[in-house]
Parts: sequence; structure tokens; C-alpha cells
Amino acid sequence: EAVDNAPAVVIGSGYGAAVAALRLGQAGIRTLVIEMGRLWDTAGPDGKVFCATNAPDQRSMWFRTRTEAPLATFLWLDVVNRDITAYPGVLDRVRFANMSVYVGRGVGGGSLVNGSMAVTPLQSYFAEQFPTVNSTEMYGTYFPRARSMLGVNTVDPAWFESTEWYRFTRISRKHAENAGLKTTFVPSVYDFAYMQREAAGTATKSALGAEVIYGNNHGKRSLDKTYLASALGTGNVTIHTMERARGIRRAGDGTYVVTVDRIDDTGRVVETKEYGCTYLFLGAGSVGTTELLVRAREKGTLPALNASVGGGWGPNGNVMLGRANHLWDTVGANQSTMPVMGIDDWSNTDNPVFAEIAPLPTGLEHWVSLYLAITKNPQRASFTYDSATDSAKLGWSAAQSAVSVSMAKKLFDRINSANSTIYRYDLFGSSSKIFADDFTYHPLGGCVLGKATDDYGRVKGYSKLYVTDGSLVPGSIGVNPFVTITALAERTMARVLAEDTAP
Ligand code: FAD
Repeated sequence: EAVDNAPAVVIGSGYGAAVAALRLGQAGIRTLVIEMGRLWDTAGPDGKVFCATNAPDQRSMWFRTRTEAPLATFLWLDVVNRDITAYPGVLDRVRFANMSVYVGRGVGGGSLVNGSMAVTPLQSYFAEQFPTVNSTEMYGTYFPRARSMLGVNTVDPAWFESTEWYRFTRISRKHAENAGLKTTFVPSVYDFAYMQREAAGTATKSALGAEVIYGNNHGKRSLDKTYLASALGTGNVTIHTMERARGIRRAGDGTYVVTVDRIDDTGRVVETKEYGCTYLFLGAGSVGTTELLVRAREKGTLPALNASVGGGWGPNGNVMLGRANHLWDTVGANQSTMPVMGIDDWSNTDNPVFAEIAPLPTGLEHWVSLYLAITKNPQRASFTYDSATDSAKLGWSAAQSAVSVSMAKKLFDRINSANSTIYRYDLFGSSSKIFADDFTYHPLGGCVLGKATDDYGRVKGYSKLYVTDGSLVPGSIGVNPFVTITALAERTMARVLAEDTAP
């Protein structure tokens, strides 16, 4: 028998889920949030909640015995990754045949591990990707609401120009400008006032202490400090951690039943339970939500799901690469982990690319300029359900990644030729690999808005079943995605609370 725990259940606790939880709680609707990861609020023996990127321990990765950082090697040496004890750590790398997807695990989802870059896409590109959404309303109401709730701020330009911590960014800007390219500051949810105190030596270092992909102990306005804190403050929201949703079915009276495995710190399932609810919100992320829905469709527990469920997936054209600088162009031993600038060539219709200037904080001068390029790769893939492993498979091919690489290469060949520089060959595991095209930080799609759902995230074929996360975005948004995901979730919740929950 399912426990009728709360009228509303939210699966996951990333951006889409956190918005749903807050707005439901504020509307007076009792809501249960189910999150498979931990609540990251307790210090370990070293006095810290999270470990740094340069000293990973069990807290770094989701049930691994060795870390799997995006940079496999440095000077071809396997110095980046470390053996660790298997534990429900904060970063996961979900491996599909030709594409790995990095995701955050824990209360706050991706906000715990991401680079804090809070970028609003070009309105024209948003309108191209979401032709049925009123973009005037998005840019007038929901994007500003999302930015204000997330605590978006910008680096003080004068401090940026003078601090050693952003020397690596200034060098990359100079090299882009030498190639006739323009750069732009990128807003952030990392508190720059705190960062300036770190630099001054009056606050504990976090962004300036090599903390990022395995979590930040200070300075970052992750969702547990913004949306989720406010959601809990309504008194109507409860969060269950270490509970992984596995199945969704519909009861005879039209309510939903969610089957959940509760796991312990070794990953063992210690209890399986069911939650009943009237309203079900899926915020488990592009991979998590899509897997739940393709499984439910193929196992027949939600048979009316349409053929678009599972489709329209893309990696936001992500490619990582490094350039080798001349000896006189030092990037600095001290680097902030929070990027603040991008090379913006998106308006180049022949080859649209937006490339983030990324840090590589090793504590030593290494002359590497690192980038995460977001290319306008039009390729899309689909998830299918594999009954043998009871999991979703992603049909992304290596040839589809090659499209992103050729676009990134065109841009960075220009930068290299203008500066007489070359690529770094020692970063991604083998000397033939200059472009890391086999992983993404930006999984998007799987339940695309207007296809798998209506224009407000209501899943087609069902009532009171919603998607609020990155699976709604059709594979590409041209910039880092969390502001867009948050703004779309705000728009969905405004509509759903006005139309679907009235007594
Ligand atoms: P997520 O944030 O992925 O949240 C999903 C949550 O659901 C997770 O907590 C997960 O544990 C949980 N979950 C999944 N399945 C289940 C299940 N079956 N049962 C229970 N819980 C489940 N974006 C930017 O905009 N700017 C950046 O600077 C940036 N940098 C990034 C750096 C890294 C290293 C990574 C990994 C991502 C980065 N991103 C960045 C991407 C951004 O974090 C994601 O786009 C965003 O988190 C997606 O939000 P979401 O709501 O779709 O889901």
C-alpha cells in the first residue's frame, strides 16, 4: 500500500525541482522532495563538508573507487585522479557508449558542483529553440525572477583587471582579441564580495582554494542556500535524502505512485517504499527524468507517454580543450575556480561558438589556457529503455561529437594562428586527444517542451504530471543552462499553480 505522504511529490532537488518545491510550499501545498544523494551539511574529520579538486577523497564521487575527473592527465602523467573509497560522493559521471554526462548528487543537484556561471541566453536564440514560448514574457518576468532568486552577481571589473587570481582569464582575453574576437563578462552565483575577502586573506579560501567540481565550502550560492532553504522555510516542504525513485505508476483513482529505493552509504538498498501523490513533478535532470519516463513507458506503467519521450537530447555542443602559451604569457600559479569571461562568437553564422575561459588551478605555473566551448551542434540523440539492465541507453555517436569538435577547432585554430600558439596534447589521456568531446556538463533534452510535454511542462497523455528540469530544453541553449532551466521552471509553476491546483 502506498503511503499518501503529501499531495505533491518532487523527484530530485536540482534547479527545476527546487523551483517547484518552493512555489508549491508557498502555495500551501504539502510537498515531499525525493533526492538520491546526501544532504551536504556535515563536516568530515578535516572540518570541511566538501573536498578540493586537488585532494579528492570519498566525498568527491558517487560510488567510485577512483576519481574520474574531466582532465585525465597532465604532462601525460596520471596525476589528476586518485583512488578513493566508494561512497555517495557529490559528483557522478554517468557513462553511455560515446558520451559521459557529469551530474551533481545531493540536495541541490548540479548547483553543488557547477562553475556558478549564470548566463541568460540571447533572446533570439531562446526564441529559436522555444518557438511556442512567449519570449517577451520570459525576458520581462521569468529570467529576471530566476536571476534574483539565484543571487546572480558580477565580478568588479577593476578588481578583475588587477588580481593575480584572474590573470589566466586576461591572457585568454588578449589572445582572443588578437584574433579579432570579442569577449564578454559572465555573471555568477559565487559571491564576489566573499572572493575578494579570500584574496585579501580575511576569509577561508574556497574558489581561491581549488574548490569547485567536488563542491564549494564557502562563497557559492548553491540551491540549498537559496530556493531550497526558502522552500523548507514555508513549513510545507520535506526533503528525503538517499532515496532513489525507480518506478512511477498511476493508481485507479488517477493519483501517482512512486517506487523508491532507500540506499545506505555503501549503496546497498535498505528499504523499498512507495509514495502516493496527486501532483508529481519530475526534476531528476535530463538523464534522471528521461530514464524514469522511458522506463515507465516501456514497462507499461505509464503507457500513454508519447514517442517524443526520450528524444531531442544534446550535450549543448560541449567540447573542452587546452592551448599552450608562450613562456612570456604566464597564466599564474593562483587561479580562481569560478570562470567570469567567455569568448563570444555566437553571432558568427558560419560557426557559432561561445567559449568559457576555464581555470586549471594546480598551484604551479603551467602556461595552459583551458576552455569549455559551447558549439551550435545541431545533432540530437534519443534515450531508449534497455530491459536487460533496467536502465536508459543514450544513442549518441562519436560522429555526432565530431561536429562539435570541428566547430571548436575552427574558432581555436584562428586564435592559435593569430598568436602563433598550439594546442596542449597532454590533458585528455592520450596524445592524439586534443579535444575532449566525450563528456558534457550540460545534458539537455529527453522530454522536450512542446513535444513530450505541453508548452508548460505538463506531460502529454497524463494530467497532474510535470517535467520542470533540463530535459525540457531541446539539446542546445548556446550558454551555460541553469538560469534557463530555473526561469522555465518559474514559468511552469506560475501557470500550474494558477490553473491546475485550484480547488
Ligand atoms: P540537476 O541539477 O541535475 O538535478 C537533478 C537531481 O536529481 C540531482 O540532485 C540527482 O541526484 C537527483 N536525481 C536524479 N535521478 C534521481 C532519482 N531517480 N531519484 C531521486 N533523485 C534523483 N551550468 C551553468 O549554467 N553554469 C555553470 O557554470 C555550470 N557548470 C557546471 C559544471 C559541472 C561540473 C557540471 C556537472 C554541470 C555544470 N553546469 C553548469 C550544468 C548545470 O549544473 C545543470 O544544467 C543543472 O544542474 C541541471 O539542472 P536540473 O534541474 O535539470 O537537474
